[in-house]
Amino acid sequence: MSALPDPRSRLVAIGRLFYERGWMWATAGNLSARADAESFWITASGLSKGELVPSDFLRVGIADGAVLEGRPDHKPSAETAIHRAIYQTQTVGACLHGHSVEAVLASRGRDPVVLPRVEMIKALGVWDDGTPTALPVFTNHPDVASIGQAVETFLRDHPRPLPALIVRDHGVTAWGQTISEALRHFEAVEFLLTLLARGF
Ligand SMILES: [Zn+2]
Repeated sequence: MSALPDPRSRLVAIGRLFYERGWMWATAGNLSARADAESFWITASGLSKGELVPSDFLRVGIADGAVLEGRPDHKPSAETAIHRAIYQTQTVGACLHGHSVEAVLASRGRDPVVLPRVEMIKALGVWDDGTPTALPVFTNHPDVASIGQAVETFLRDHPRPLPALIVRDHGVTAWGQTISEALRHFEAVEFLLTLLARGF
């Protein structure tokens, strides 16, 4: 795979959108998109996602997490480990992670989180064919590398997962083969979790 079109300006726009929707309060969440076969661009740590610029991204290696390109005063998010687990195991072009109120509420007392089969479930490529709609729930942990390891193990053991997961009391990560597909998956999961959080 040769270098793909630079995704950073598109991710900047998604950061603003997610911030305005309340999915990236404070400096929470991170956004990534594939740069080539071996690396992806991801938001640097500690920045407001409503005010990103293209130089706020670092290019990191999928295999080892090494920083390959970017400002020397920026660090990749600790949650890069979760993104790497997804790039290592899925056919994926982009990966979006937010911290919404609804995701925290919906992950309380549910494991897995079974998404309701309403019209919006179609956006995940699932309808009335009996495909399970259970999102895996991972335990939150200060050592994010251990969450990344748990995600990688789960995805290796489950060849056709839904394109999203939840870390309990933390937030959603969704992915897709393109940025547009990852965005559609993320928005659909947030919609469905909002239904659950409101008692559906
Ligand atoms: Zn997070």
